[in-house]
Amino acid sequence: MEEEKKAAHFIKNIIINDIENKKISKIITRFPPEPNGYLHLGHAKSICLNFGIADEFSGECNLRFDDTNPAKEEQKYIDSIMEDVKWLGFDWEDRLFHASDYFDRLYDFAVELIKKNRAYVCSLSGDEIRQYRGTLTTPGRNSPFRNRSTAENLDLFERMKKGEFNDGEHVLRAKIDMSSPNINMRDPIIYRIKKTAHPRTKDKWCIYPMYDFTHCLSDAIEGITHSLCTLEFEDHRPLYDWIIDQLDTPCHPKQIEFARMNLDFTIMSKRKLNILVEKKYVKGWDDPRLPTLAGIRRRGFTPQSIRKFCSLIGISKKESRIDLGVLENCIREDLNEKAPRVMGVLNPLKLIIENWPEGQIEELDAMNHPQKKEMGTRKVIFSREIFIEREDFMENPPKKFFRLGPGREVRLRYAYFITCRKIVKDDNTGEIKEIICTYDPATRGGDAPDGRKVKGTLHWVSGQHSIPAKVRLYDRLFLKEDPEEANDDFTDNINPESLVTLDNCRVEKSLENAGAGDTFQFERLGYFCIDSRDSSPDQLIFNRTITLRDTWAKLKKKKH
Ligand code: ATP
Ligand code: MG
Repeated sequence: MEEEKKAAHFIKNIIINDIENKKISKIITRFPPEPNGYLHLGHAKSICLNFGIADEFSGECNLRFDDTNPAKEEQKYIDSIMEDVKWLGFDWEDRLFHASDYFDRLYDFAVELIKKNRAYVCSLSGDEIRQYRGTLTTPGRNSPFRNRSTAENLDLFERMKKGEFNDGEHVLRAKIDMSSPNINMRDPIIYRIKKTAHPRTKDKWCIYPMYDFTHCLSDAIEGITHSLCTLEFEDHRPLYDWIIDQLDTPCHPKQIEFARMNLDFTIMSKRKLNILVEKKYVKGWDDPRLPTLAGIRRRGFTPQSIRKFCSLIGISKKESRIDLGVLENCIREDLNEKAPRVMGVLNPLKLIIENWPEGQIEELDAMNHPQKKEMGTRKVIFSREIFIEREDFMENPPKKFFRLGPGREVRLRYAYFITCRKIVKDDNTGEIKEIICTYDPATRGGDAPDGRKVKGTLHWVSGQHSIPAKVRLYDRLFLKEDPEEANDDFTDNINPESLVTLDNCRVEKSLENAGAGDTFQFERLGYFCIDSRDSSPDQLIFNRTITLRDTWAKLKKKKH
């Protein structure tokens, strides 16, 4: 990945140290999603970190599905996760793994723990286990089943596996220390009965290993050298190390925690995103307003812009919220380089050029990118009836308005100077229906030979030679920077205007053959991408990816 600067951070320093001290020769990392939802930008941070480190140190990064909870996991999530990781630009080659691949070995590890008197079958109910566990300030109490004999534990555990008991009747617990100040060490549950079929192992198992037991052992089985995870696992690290220490595993991976990504005006938790989808606040996991990778891809974000963003925000141990403007700038900069320029009008106002002969057309050359000659030119058709942006005309313009008004002259991009001669209004509503102008034939291409200047340049499309389109304008999904501030229910803070659809837009004819996902700069307006789900040749639908300027930054400054 050339475009991202390889910034230093504390995890890299640890790795460099481990290599220098000859502790490790080949770095192996992993990205371990739970297939219970779509990936979001926070996951992108973890993907870029894990695959990025492997890449930088000539190591490997595995993709491993942490699929230990069959009740919540679905194939569609597995498929989408693979698609998203590939889209971001990373390759796990032949190293696609599933925690469920290890169920047999995990079972054997559990048996090994029992034999070492480090695990026991507990028959307390869930509620009782919670009561016995104690609190942050009071120690826990030993389960009355803690001293079962090894033989009894082995027998019960095997019968749990055979399906002789109901969900919740027994669990397998690690035997550690009920008085530990770290609650995770108070005899955590490592296996539970769950009579649910698994997407991969089907009905082979009715007991499933818990996350804390599975994760460290899967890491060890795969020979992971550095197991990078988010800060909430810091308190689980003693358990991670304890389990590995008890068992005869191929290696002892080093767990290192870093801060999660939090982004202003959005939420980043699969569970909460699922609520937005299920309760139909948004139209699916790939709704362009969501921070899911599927959503921002559909909105028109590029993988390069996301990688750049992840590299800009860096890796640290300190939780923080990222200003949305940082993300928006990344996509703006990327599309500024790449997106071909075209003209489109969002709120069309008809303009008639009265000294242009009826039926006559002219093909004008327009640049596809103002700085990049190699991107070439295209023809745009000029004719007697055109559309301009309604906003670009004012009947009584204030001082600083340099666009069109009665008697004023402006430039039509790539075309001619025009002067406004007349306004035609709707008799009933008084709304401006059309504007009558004249053009100056000497100004072809947009320059006056006599050197006279105009202050405004407007974009436009030909009436007959443009195509209708719908445009979806997106705004922030939430009204508050932190939608959960002061324990708010985040759904109360949804921005009711996060999606506005404009139904009567017009775009230049050259877009007739554009395909799903193609992105353009509509001159003066922003970047727009053809919706990959709903757009069709009969009805073009664009998503506005991002405006040309950070209009919010301006608003913020004013406020302060
Ligand atoms: P969520 O709370 O959204 O469900 P998760 O941590 O439960 O997230 P997993 O599928 O378990 O989701 O995550 C896979 C990997 O991505 C984990 O290593 C996790 O630490 C990391 N990850 C998840 N969310 C973030 C985030 N916001 N920032 C950085 N890394 C994240
Ligand atoms: Mg999780």
